[in-house]
Amino acid sequence: MPSSSPSPLLIENCRHVATFDDTGRELEHCDILVEGPRIVAIGPGLRQSRQLPPDIPCIDATGHLAIPGLVNTHHHLWQVLTRVMPSTQHFTLFNWLLTNYEVWKHMDPEAFRVGATLSLAELLLSGCTTASDMQYLYPQTQTVELIDEEIAAARDLGIRFHPTRASMSLGVDDGGLPPMVLVESPDRVLEDYERVLSKYHDPSDFSMLRIALAPCAPFNAREELFRETAVVARRHGVLLHTHLAETPDENDYCMEKFGCRPLEYVCRLGWEGPDVWFAHAVQLNADEIRRCAESGMGVAHCPSANARLGSGVAPIPAMLEAGVRVGLAVDGTSSNDCGSLLAEARVAFLLHRATWGVDSFDARDALRIATRGGAAILHNPKIGRLEVDCAADIVLIDENRLELAGGSSLDPLAALVFCGLQRPVDYTIVNGRIVVERGQLCRVSESTLVRRANEATARLVGRENP
Ligand SMILES: [Zn+2]
Repeated sequence: MPSSSPSPLLIENCRHVATFDDTGRELEHCDILVEGPRIVAIGPGLRQSRQLPPDIPCIDATGHLAIPGLVNTHHHLWQVLTRVMPSTQHFTLFNWLLTNYEVWKHMDPEAFRVGATLSLAELLLSGCTTASDMQYLYPQTQTVELIDEEIAAARDLGIRFHPTRASMSLGVDDGGLPPMVLVESPDRVLEDYERVLSKYHDPSDFSMLRIALAPCAPFNAREELFRETAVVARRHGVLLHTHLAETPDENDYCMEKFGCRPLEYVCRLGWEGPDVWFAHAVQLNADEIRRCAESGMGVAHCPSANARLGSGVAPIPAMLEAGVRVGLAVDGTSSNDCGSLLAEARVAFLLHRATWGVDSFDARDALRIATRGGAAILHNPKIGRLEVDCAADIVLIDENRLELAGGSSLDPLAALVFCGLQRPVDYTIVNGRIVVERGQLCRVSESTLVRRANEATARLVGRENP
């Protein structure tokens, strides 16, 4: 099927439409008309005013709230196969990683494919239409083409995908964290950047696939690779991504190895600018927040993973106040261990209120970083809002569901965050195509996926615990 079919779709009679446009308009009783990948009209009575044919493909959205598809800005899709692993449940980041590495080193292409499919399916069911991913796991027993597995999974499901060709190049023998079997040489990584970019990167409007480059973190990627990656990314006009300032351990590591804090370290290597986004940034101080705002670096906020690993609460209200671009992310599902981006918005909302007070963060702040914030991080102005000529990435939620009853008649948009959803969204539409319908994935069998995932997990963990 072509990726930009001009076929129309009328989403008729939405009770509410939260546009997340520049003025934050929230409309009532509107239709949304889609042609191909884009929204061409939003307003009441479009069937009549546009003289649309009676048999136009149509979703009856009576009683539904329409929001822009959510944007996930950081993930490790395969990690879903090792979520809730008992041996990691009580660890902070470094010990959690060291334990997981011993299992992840056995990952194979089938496990990557099924893990990616499962994680992306969870995102679609929670209203996410664009996902980034940081695929840094390339066991030396496998070929470099593991990122191809997740790209294929995204295509199968119909989600918009912004994966990063990530890597670990500093192993335990050289002062890094991962075992050497998970370490790639910088030359191999640089060579594969060219392969992945030329094979997959599509910078066009309404692109379903864009690539970014991502040495994993200061404690597992070589200095020269950080430097070289910035050069390659700027030559190709693609974005740069890494983990940064996640834990006090990382601060200590960088002070000891490099004589400075993590942000200063990567900035010295050329990583300062609006084409850079960092995952976590929990440990940024006031000067560093100001530097990110002034230089334009973005932050992927991962509140559940930060809480789960005891890393702390990222100072997001202060970042937003300073003008830092902030997006939301579930992070890898071994540290979340829930793959719902809408649930993540609720966690962010609650954590910031618990930490900084009730006036620090509201429901619309949480949804705004999950939509417009993510779009800004990924430099994609076509997503994250419902406006004419933007991508038809649209999520519909029936307001008449049990968990929203009462509240949805008062403030249905806030209810998504205050109440949370107990079941999947009703419709997820990506680039004008319906990929979740009545709460069900359209393109894969959920029961088959669960069986394959459980088999992959048993195979992986069984190797460690025969
Ligand atoms: Zn991560």
